[in-house]
Amino acid sequence: MQTLPNPTQTQSPSSPAIATTIERRKTRPVPVGNITIGGGHPVVVQSMINEDTLDIEGSVAAIRRLHEIGCEIVRVTVPSLAHAKALSEIKQKLKDTYQPVPLVADVHHNGMKIALEVAKHVDKVRINPGLYVFEKPKADRTEYTEAEFAEIGDKIRQTLEPLVISLRDQGKAMRIGVNHGSLAERMLFTYGDTPEGMVESALEFIQICESLDFYNIVISLKASRVPVMLAAYRLMVRRMDELGMSYPLHLGVTEAGDGEYGRIKSTAGIATLLADGIGDTIRVSLTESPEKEIPVCYSILQALGLRKTMVEYVACPSCGRTLFNLEEVLHKVREATNHLTGLDIAVMGCIVNGPGEMADADYGYVGRQPGYISLYRGKEEIKKVPEDQGVEELINLIKADGRWVDP
Ligand code: SF4
Repeated sequence: MQTLPNPTQTQSPSSPAIATTIERRKTRPVPVGNITIGGGHPVVVQSMINEDTLDIEGSVAAIRRLHEIGCEIVRVTVPSLAHAKALSEIKQKLKDTYQPVPLVADVHHNGMKIALEVAKHVDKVRINPGLYVFEKPKADRTEYTEAEFAEIGDKIRQTLEPLVISLRDQGKAMRIGVNHGSLAERMLFTYGDTPEGMVESALEFIQICESLDFYNIVISLKASRVPVMLAAYRLMVRRMDELGMSYPLHLGVTEAGDGEYGRIKSTAGIATLLADGIGDTIRVSLTESPEKEIPVCYSILQALGLRKTMVEYVACPSCGRTLFNLEEVLHKVREATNHLTGLDIAVMGCIVNGPGEMADADYGYVGRQPGYISLYRGKEEIKKVPEDQGVEELINLIKADGRWVDP
């Protein structure tokens, strides 16, 4: 393995500095309850409950479960007016029995009345431009005239206006959530089933909001295919730059599935954009219980250095030089220290390459010679101890430095 220099910028005499931290795109801050999306705030983690919103007790418990493990904004679905009204009770119960949790309501087909009702009870309303004014596609249609296009545009404006005004006057937020799989028919006819169609669909809604002086907007352009999703978000950023807009972006890959592949697929989409500085809030959509989504979000953010919510373990893959059972020792070190959020701890197999490769870890546990390991504080070797006392001595070193807290 190669040893990398430590500083946050690497530079050779002939090439300009290359940043090794992510420079995030500057976005407008959008408040959602007591959380802010964008405006330089940490990337916000969100998820969605599966409960029927009419089940008040079940929904309150599910929202609380998610919030307690770090989900900062919770989304609920409101398929009917009765569901929208139930949100008033859910919100109140959370306040009385737990604490206020930023809530987003998902509104779908022709959901104007539902959206207006639910806007009174939640902090953000998510609408899908492809469904908000839903015209059943005509099977025999061969074209969309400009006049027809404009006519539906007017209808959208009239339908959206009251919701925008309500959210604006209450200081609440809206997510314009475009989905590749549910683009409106007229967008499909005009732009095709493309990222351009997704972006234009979002822009049409943004322009209506702006004409009413409403700017608390978050945009998403999800697709189940990662390259489509990447193209849509990148094009959106380009178009917003051209138009002088700086709305924060909500990232996600829809229908990512479950298990390892669902996690990898979500990460491929979300992390690729985050690494380019794009994205202010994320949701990993898994076909599993929503609680399983939160650790994935945090792992993505931690791996990119965007948030620090756990100990960062640096460990070599082990090789013929490894002087102890690395997997076992890493497991033991993790068991003993994984509550020390904020620390970087390295476990390296040998003294030959280990100290150089553990980069800027706060503490290192490095194979020294058969039966012995060395403990490091940063780059400094502190002491050599018998391997069977390694974990205990590591804890003692962290304690002596005043950086230990009891689990
Ligand atoms: S044992 Fe040493 S050389 Fe082998 S992978 Fe670990 S640090 Fe690298």
